[in-house]
Amino acid sequence: MSGAERSEELYQRACRVIPGGVNSPVRAFRTVGGTPRFIEKAAGQYLFDVDGRKYLDFMCSWGALILGHAHPEVVAAISRAAANGTSYGAPTPDEVRLAEAITRSYPGLEQVRFVSSGTEAVMSAIRVARAATRRDLIVKFSGCYHGHADHLLVAAGSGLATFQRPSSAGVPQAFVDCTRILPLDDEAAVRELFAREGARIAAVIIEPVPANHGLLLQRLEFLGLLRDITREHGALLILDEVISGFRIAQGGAAETCGIVPDLATFGKVIGGGMPVGAFGGARALMSHLAPDGDTYQAGTLSGNPVAMAAGVTTLELLVRDSAWAKLEALGQALERELAPVIESSPFPLRLVRIGSMFWPCLIESGPPRVAATLSEKATKRFAALFHAMLERGVYLPPSPYEVCFLSLAHTEEDLRTLAKALRESLAVAAREVP
Ligand SMILES: *Cc1c(COP(=O)(O)O)cnc(C)c1O
Repeated sequence: MSGAERSEELYQRACRVIPGGVNSPVRAFRTVGGTPRFIEKAAGQYLFDVDGRKYLDFMCSWGALILGHAHPEVVAAISRAAANGTSYGAPTPDEVRLAEAITRSYPGLEQVRFVSSGTEAVMSAIRVARAATRRDLIVKFSGCYHGHADHLLVAAGSGLATFQRPSSAGVPQAFVDCTRILPLDDEAAVRELFAREGARIAAVIIEPVPANHGLLLQRLEFLGLLRDITREHGALLILDEVISGFRIAQGGAAETCGIVPDLATFGKVIGGGMPVGAFGGARALMSHLAPDGDTYQAGTLSGNPVAMAAGVTTLELLVRDSAWAKLEALGQALERELAPVIESSPFPLRLVRIGSMFWPCLIESGPPRVAATLSEKATKRFAALFHAMLERGVYLPPSPYEVCFLSLAHTEEDLRTLAKALRESLAVAAREVP
C-alpha cells in the first residue's frame, strides 16, 4: 500500500479502539478491500487524505454535501453560530427559520421537528404514525434503507447487502414481527398484503427514490398505488426523503412525483454537513407529539444552533443559486461525457441517474427497479474499478450498491476527468477480473 502509510497507521490504531476501525460500517472498505483513506480536510469538490493525496469526490458525504465541501458561506455561518455558543437546551431563531424553509418547500408539510440523524427522523415518524392510527404494522420495501432502528433493519439496503446478511443480530424477533417486507415495483404484492392485513397497517414507508441498494428508480404508478391504497385503508404513507429531500428538487420526490405523503423524513442535505434530521407532516398528525400530545419524542441536541445555522444557510444558497436546474444540467453533462465510455465498457455497465444522483450499475440484466444482488465477478470488478479510480484521484463510494453524487462545486471539467479515469479504470478492472 504505497502512498497510504499514514492511513495504514491510523487504521491500525483505529481498529484497536473503534469496532472495525470505523464509526459507520461501509467506510471500512470491506467490499473493495484495502485500507480506508483517512481524510484530513476537504474543499469544494475535493477530499485530501492524511498522506497528502487529493481526490475528486463523488461521494459528497453520502449525499449530504450538495454545495460541496467547506462552502465558505456555510463555514462562516457555522463559525458565527459557534462563537455564540454551541448548545443552549432552549429554542433559537434558526430552528424557526429552518422549519419555515422546509415547510414552505415541501408539499403538504405544515410542521417539522428536528432530530440529529436520519435514523432518528424515521424512528420518530413511525412512532407518530402508530400513535395516530393506533395500529402497529409497518410496511417497508426490500432494498430500502431507513436508518438502523430495530423494526426497520430488515432487507435494508447496501450495508446489509454488502455483508450478505438478511437482517441484523441484536434485533428481537418481536420487533420485526410488526414489520412487513414487500418487493419494490410489485403492485400485486401490495394489494395482496392490504387485502389481508390492511386494517392493522399503521404506515407504508418507502424511499421514493430508492438509493441505498443502487439507484432503483420506481414507476410513478407504483408510488401512486401506495398513496391510494394507504388512504383507502386508513394507513399513512411515509416518504423517506433523507437522501432525495432538497436533493432532486426543492420539494423532494414529493414534488417530482406529485405525491403528497402523510409524513416525510429528512436528513443529509438539510444539515449542510452537520448532524440534522427532521420529520414532519400535517399539523393534525404532528400534534400527537409531546408536549401537545401523548407521543413522546425528544433530544438534548435536537435543533442544535450550529447545525441549524448550517442548514438555514445551505437551503438559502440552494434557492438563491437555482441549484436544482444547475444540478440537472450537470447531470445531463455527466451522461454526455460518460456515454461513450460506458458504450465501450469491456464488461456490462450502465449509468442510472436522476438529477445529481447517479449509479454505475454492474448488474448484468433487467431494468434495476428491485433490489438485486451482484454476481461475485461483478463485485470483484467493482473492487478493481474502485481502486483504479482511487489511484487516479477519483473517490467513489466504496461499495457497488452505493450511489454517487454531484454537488454544485463540480464542474464540467471534473466530469471529463471522471470520464477519462473511468475509461482507464474499466480497462484495468477488465484485465484484473477477466
Ligand atoms: C442515510 C439514510 C437514512 C439514515 O440517516 P442517518 O443520518 O445515517 O441516520 C435514512 N433513510 C435514508 C433513505 C437514508 O439514505
